[in-house]
Amino acid sequence: MPSPSQRIATLTGDGDDGWSLFYRARAMKAAGMDVLELTIGEHDIGTNPAILDEMHRAAKAGHTGYAAVPGVAALRAAVAARLSAQHGQSYTSDNVLIVPGGQAGLFAAHHAACDPGDHALMIDPYYATYPGTIRAVGALPVAVAARSEDGFQPDLAALAKAAVGAGSLLINSPNNPTGVVYSAASLAGIAAIAEAHDLWVISDEVYDSQVWQGQHRPIASLPGMAARTLTIGSLSKSHAMTGSRLGWVCGPADVIAQMITLATHTTYGVPGYIQEAGLFALAMGPAAEAAVAAPFKRRRDLLLGRITGHKVLRAIPPEGAMYVMLDIRATGLSGDDFAARLLDAAHVAVMPGESFGQAAAGHVRVALTLPDDLFAEAVDRLIGFAEGLLA
Ligand code: PMP
Repeated sequence: MPSPSQRIATLTGDGDDGWSLFYRARAMKAAGMDVLELTIGEHDIGTNPAILDEMHRAAKAGHTGYAAVPGVAALRAAVAARLSAQHGQSYTSDNVLIVPGGQAGLFAAHHAACDPGDHALMIDPYYATYPGTIRAVGALPVAVAARSEDGFQPDLAALAKAAVGAGSLLINSPNNPTGVVYSAASLAGIAAIAEAHDLWVISDEVYDSQVWQGQHRPIASLPGMAARTLTIGSLSKSHAMTGSRLGWVCGPADVIAQMITLATHTTYGVPGYIQEAGLFALAMGPAAEAAVAAPFKRRRDLLLGRITGHKVLRAIPPEGAMYVMLDIRATGLSGDDFAARLLDAAHVAVMPGESFGQAAAGHVRVALTLPDDLFAEAVDRLIGFAEGLLA
């Protein structure tokens, strides 16, 4: 019997990325237990019915065959216009590849940026798929820690050191899991390092519509950076379209052309009726995105308000995205142990910080993804549990 390749057998490294807790919570719920899940980044609302109507219309109108591999012309143009305004660039459709979700964009971007064996830098804490995505293209993930004490802004000195001989740097602002939005100083420092070491920057901006404090600053808007940046976006978070699998990569036209060849040999594009629905969703404008984002801000404020000055739980106030990182080190427990015991004792599921890298050890990530009343109930349980640990 042939063995699977080393590459696929070692894709996820050693850890389970917190999935065991997630599946345990799901199993408890399936067994009828009253479990409140604040784990993955999935909205508590579905996709707007008007978008679904358009999806249906487009399918009935015949958009069910192979769609253009780079993306349908009107959607590529709409994404180019959106990002031109955000980045202060004049992108055209040639700068845009439509992909089946941000995750596919991350894979394609690393495929384009890295040769096998290259060091691909990423900042710890990181979104759980990052190391596996980098390994999937044969590159070596190199995590550079950002500290809780620095509000999880990147450590520029450590990055500059790791950048020697590296091929790419993956950044994510607004950030999952920390909610940090990179400051102007962080971005300027990253840009200088990328230029000094001739790195590709892969900028994951799937949370660009969810900023609660400060402003979203795309790194491609900095002088000279558009030529070395591959920006990843998606309608998953901005339009509650996680299941539709629709996103993009924006970058220099010559690299995008090569990524189209990659798409021809991997995904062969995104279903036409999904793309038509995405075009419709983008045309709904900023108010529709603000409406999708608003509940996360509300719940963020509720949680922060409840634990201000708390003796055990300390939050790093998120400036964006749909999560709050809680520093639980005062309990003496690891994030893994805290999350496991919270699930058993109080039936609340949160993600251990350790599932996002070592820099988030002693933290847990709370997803702001339950309706307000249930979210408030989960916060009550979480605080009660934490206080019980000290009793
Ligand atoms: N990047 C980050 C930081 C994420 O949190 C997610 C989803 N949780 C993704 C990328 C992938 O999103 P999608 O593939 O649905 O666009």
